[in-house]
Amino acid sequence: MKINEPFLQWLREAGGAAVLGQLRISGKPGEWIIRHCDDGDEVVPDPHWRVAREWVKVAADGTYRPLKGEGNLAPGRALGPLDDRELLEALNVIYPTTVANGVLFRSGALRITPFAETAGRQTGMYRIVGTITPEQLDEVVAGVCERRCLKQRLWEPRAKVPELEGTAWPLLCPEACNLMVAACRAKIKGQPLTATED
Ligand code: SF4
Repeated sequence: MKINEPFLQWLREAGGAAVLGQLRISGKPGEWIIRHCDDGDEVVPDPHWRVAREWVKVAADGTYRPLKGEGNLAPGRALGPLDDRELLEALNVIYPTTVANGVLFRSGALRITPFAETAGRQTGMYRIVGTITPEQLDEVVAGVCERRCLKQRLWEPRAKVPELEGTAWPLLCPEACNLMVAACRAKIKGQPLTATED
């Protein structure tokens, strides 16, 4: 909980107008409500934070959601009232590591992993990812990260500089995810970019 304290402080200061990805968080300590940004207050919140596990699985169009940073979270659900611990648990299900990454980034302590390092760690069927060319990587970044994902990528190529002001908590990507790695493998092998891992 301690590492999350700066986030909770930020939330209290946001005065019930905080946005995190496709979520808006309102309420006050002990009574936090998480809603989809597209929903009004008419959606009745579910008090069980574990419902978030079902919420993240299926996209607005009814298909499976392999990428949690994708902007296709279904509206029509809300969670709350939640205490601080429940709120953090729910957020970590919907956007894993996002709260901690934001805290670390704000303090200058977030480690950014270059793609070459991520690729160099791959084994087995993914070892081939280490042979990707800059042009191929660029195409996968454009087709997966920039087309599908809401996260601000901190690793090159075309890394983003996050905005830290205001009532939106940054959704950061300090290291390529498994879906991205799988998409790189597909690119090298000349297959469509349809990886489904998260
Ligand atoms: S690697 Fe790309 S797709 Fe994966 S989480 Fe980061 S920005 Fe999103």
